[in-house]
Amino acid sequence: MNLTCAHRWAFSAWGGALAEHSDPLAPAGGDEVTVRVTHCGICHSDLHIQAGGFDMGGGRLSSFERAGARLPLTMGHEIGGEVVELGPEASGLTLGDKVIVYPWLGCGECPVCARGEDHLCPRAPRNLGIQLPGGYADLVRVPHSRYLVPIGTLSPARAATFSCAGITAFGALRKLDPTLTADDHVVIIGCGGVGMTAIALASATSKARIVAVDPDPAKREAALGHGAALAFDPAAPEAAKAIGKACAFNIAGVIDFVGAESTSSLAVNLVRRTGQVVIVGLFGGEFRMPLPMFALKSLRISGSYVGSLADLRELVALAERVTLPQIPLDLRPLAEVNQALQDLAAGRVVGRVVLQP
Ligand SMILES: [Zn+2]
Ligand SMILES: [Zn+2]
Repeated sequence: MNLTCAHRWAFSAWGGALAEHSDPLAPAGGDEVTVRVTHCGICHSDLHIQAGGFDMGGGRLSSFERAGARLPLTMGHEIGGEVVELGPEASGLTLGDKVIVYPWLGCGECPVCARGEDHLCPRAPRNLGIQLPGGYADLVRVPHSRYLVPIGTLSPARAATFSCAGITAFGALRKLDPTLTADDHVVIIGCGGVGMTAIALASATSKARIVAVDPDPAKREAALGHGAALAFDPAAPEAAKAIGKACAFNIAGVIDFVGAESTSSLAVNLVRRTGQVVIVGLFGGEFRMPLPMFALKSLRISGSYVGSLADLRELVALAERVTLPQIPLDLRPLAEVNQALQDLAAGRVVGRVVLQP
């Protein structure tokens, strides 16, 4: 295959459609590695990246441009593929290795990056699919071989989704109290790709009863199939009361994979005293809560953002060891990326769309 030119699907204006570009690719230098993309998941964040920012509430938008993103922008941060080129100093990999790519790169030099928390780097983020060209392409250039995780015999389509949906779910679940028992309930709000992955992982790794909340009956049905004990429609009358009652008012944790004003307030209402609310979704808006609730309920409210490179390696090892319940995948050709993004925006996707160049 020709390694001197990458064919990338990129948008050239914020909010605009994606078109195919041919970009010259210099030979891999230093620790760099080139991966031939075989699979790339579409994440809900891609809709925000395409729009140019997240809704910060009160009509304000965050800015990917201020965060170093430049047009034309090639998205795609759930990349699975095959190593096709190694820089002279790249180590630990062989041509032909099947890998997934950790995309949440930091500056690579600061103390936060040095302790393996690139995703929380306070300096200059270099995320693949935002600041650096991502996986909506036939080839992707990765700055260092350490960001590649070999997947052995795992399905590359499924493993690709670990890099965001997987570690986001894994990272959020790890924030919950590890001593939960079978009497405890954990509520998962939002059963799209990430929420569904969390349900599947939680049912494989936690003793607590998992409760799914989603307005879409097809997603509730799928959640029950992937390990949720109960599933509720948040739009039903008196939904919070019904959920609380069904859980014997013993909800130890709520993970909000939507992150909207309505879901975050539902989360705070549902959780028991001393419970934990973890906000993961980036739908947007503002979080409002009566201040006395913090004290009266002794609440712990935290956020969770993707996961570390170590989390990704651990998740791959877990998937190799135990058979995780499988979230539905919707495989589509890369050339249909615009339609796929529209379907995702309209809520017409169950599980995860994975593109194939
Ligand atoms: Zn993502
Ligand atoms: Zn850094």
